[in-house]
Amino acid sequence: MSLVVVGSMAFDAIETPFGKSDKIIGGAGTYIAWCASNYTAVKQISVVGGDFPESELTALTNRKVDLEGVQIKKDEKTFFWSGRYHLDMNSRDTLETQLNVLENFQPIVPESYQDCEFLMLGNLAPSVQRSVIEQLKNRPKLIIMDTMNFWMEIAMDDLKKTISMVDVLMVNDSEARQLSGEFSLVKAAKSILQMGPKYLIIKKGEHGALLFHENKVFFAPALPLEEVFDPTGAGDTFAGGFIGHIAKTKDISFNNMKTAIIVGSAMASFCVEKFGTQRLREINKADINSRIAEFVQLVNFDINLV
Ligand code: AMP
Repeated sequence: MSLVVVGSMAFDAIETPFGKSDKIIGGAGTYIAWCASNYTAVKQISVVGGDFPESELTALTNRKVDLEGVQIKKDEKTFFWSGRYHLDMNSRDTLETQLNVLENFQPIVPESYQDCEFLMLGNLAPSVQRSVIEQLKNRPKLIIMDTMNFWMEIAMDDLKKTISMVDVLMVNDSEARQLSGEFSLVKAAKSILQMGPKYLIIKKGEHGALLFHENKVFFAPALPLEEVFDPTGAGDTFAGGFIGHIAKTKDISFNNMKTAIIVGSAMASFCVEKFGTQRLREINKADINSRIAEFVQLVNFDINLV
């Protein structure tokens, strides 16, 4: 039984008010794999060009990330994205998107991935995400999907079709408003839960994340950090921590999802401390556990009602 991850593997160029990166390794699938592999083996589905460094693929293989489902298009270029963050570090502008190998990407699910129990659909074209669901002979126990405003603008009908097939949808607050047409996040959640998913996670950057299910709602804060260096990939890392914990424990109850949200938030708090995937490569189990303990302290209080 396994965790299958689908998502972009990319080159990114990032500008923040505090610094600028050269072309570095990024991509939703890359962040998810680096993060989830702390918890469980990962079977990756993606596509890269001949320019993607061999050493990066080896680094992932060394972390038990199976790359049989990663297509290497020797004569083409890897997906490239560049973005610039505003002073608040919460909002950003996309400066450039070069789809390159992603333009005609047709994922192929290897036979060895057919034991997929948990499926994480990282941000990609909704038709590509759907193609992976359709290629699996048995429906996974849990399908989680991340997406972004880009697809709402150019492929809303297609997006809604894929959303109707998943169990958990993850979006940020402005995307939840755009998808539902509602300003109140509670109303937005109600409307999105009617589109198919049983669970909805709304990410609010430095203000934490909300988990909605039926009439229940759970809130997890983000850790107040002294320095946020680069928020790129925080959402993907959050997703990787969330699904990593669920896949490791094999428990898809609402209660366990609450823990998974805390794990995701802790992992995201590491991601933003350095450029790109750098911080995720440095941390070990002890670092992760002590960060999770900080979260428990942050929200732990008793109230005596008088
Ligand atoms: P996040 O900061 O979590 O929203 O994710 C940032 C990552 O998403 C970057 O590493 C980009 O390479 C990747 N990305 C940006 N736009 C797209 C897109 N249209 N399709 C797939 N991946 C993308």
